[in-house]
Amino acid sequence: MELKKLKEFDIAFEALQEGEHQFQFEIGREIFDFYDYTDFNDISAKGNLTLRKESTYMKMNFDLHGTIGFDCDRCTAPFQLPVECTEKVVVKFSGRDIDSKSEEIIYMSISESIINVASFFYEMIILTLPLKRSHESDDCDQEVLNQLEEWSVRNEETEEIDPRWEALKKLKQR
Ligand SMILES: [Zn+2]
Repeated sequence: MELKKLKEFDIAFEALQEGEHQFQFEIGREIFDFYDYTDFNDISAKGNLTLRKESTYMKMNFDLHGTIGFDCDRCTAPFQLPVECTEKVVVKFSGRDIDSKSEEIIYMSISESIINVASFFYEMIILTLPLKRSHESDDCDQEVLNQLEEWSVRNEETEEIDPRWEALKKLKQR
């Protein structure tokens, strides 16, 4: 994995003693820039990793909490969406089976010494995002909603069939 720009997410696991280790990360735009993900305004989150190193494998438990700024799907005003997620990953160094049914398992050569964990945080966040990103219903910008409604009514009066207006109507009905 070539993640030269995300060095702060490198873990030099080879140098770690066997046992448990804690790591903290500030999650910002840079991970998303790396993956060309631009579908949000901003992000501020803290990530934690508890890493347990054994001789033939390591268990990595990730957790993350923070907020991501989106433009509301319903009223278009910017808002902060809270995010909280966890992920368990097992990294195996040998072919020996280990007992793991609930975790993602990845394999690494025993000769490798560094793992970059940026992709785990990225995937965790992407998978936890809801499809519909909007305010709690009462928090929407009422002025914008009224405007959308007005356009929609005007559209009905003129009986003009315009797919964009149709989309606006649907937006209003959600
Ligand atoms: Zn809204």
